[in-house]
Amino acid sequence: MSSIVLFGPPGAGKGTQAERIMDATGLPQVSTGDMLRAAVKAGTETGMVAKGFMESGQLVPDSVIIDLIKDRILEDDAKNGVMFDGFPRTIPQAEALAEITPVTHVIAIEVPDERIVERICGRYSCANCGSVFHDLFNPIGDDGCGCEKWQEKRRSDDNEATVNSRLNTYHEQTSPLAEWYRSKGIFHAVNGDRAIDEITVDILAVLER
Ligand code: AMP
Repeated sequence: MSSIVLFGPPGAGKGTQAERIMDATGLPQVSTGDMLRAAVKAGTETGMVAKGFMESGQLVPDSVIIDLIKDRILEDDAKNGVMFDGFPRTIPQAEALAEITPVTHVIAIEVPDERIVERICGRYSCANCGSVFHDLFNPIGDDGCGCEKWQEKRRSDDNEATVNSRLNTYHEQTSPLAEWYRSKGIFHAVNGDRAIDEITVDILAVLER
């Protein structure tokens, strides 16, 4: 069993690439952001703790996140490894992850800050199948999203004020992880400021190494 980590700032395209890598590798996507949004929607205790942090663009406490991951990794579809998206985001989370499951590749999708706001503020997805689109860069075509029940969804934290706060949080608390993983020899950076297909090709090439 071995897992991979998709790393990068909010709006780097981790969710879009995760969908494609999932098709190519069969590894299920484990997005802590998606898990937390589901918990908020369901009104669970975790969701109630997480809500305020998420709305203000801050990180949810490590202990909450680590408990979520410990449970998720026990599920049947995770037995051959998973693809983490948006986790880990702090060094304590990475240390906990190292105790939970081996990680073979950390793939950083690099996008300059000035491109992040325009990317995040135009994105939307299908609430039913999860396919991700963007007003400018990847609009939904005439064929729709590929599922029968297209329903447009936009995230409430995808607004300019919260994006700036999420970017600050990323630089202060998450980017130090790049050095941490680099020192372990499993860190690979790809240029995320290009066409979606080109980025996927690079990521799949890294995974073959
Ligand atoms: P995301 O969908 O990955 O952009 O996450 C949305 C929000 O959920 C973040 O802004 C954080 O508030 C919270 N969150 C998601 N993943 C984590 C994590 N690994 N650690 C702490 N907070 C997280």
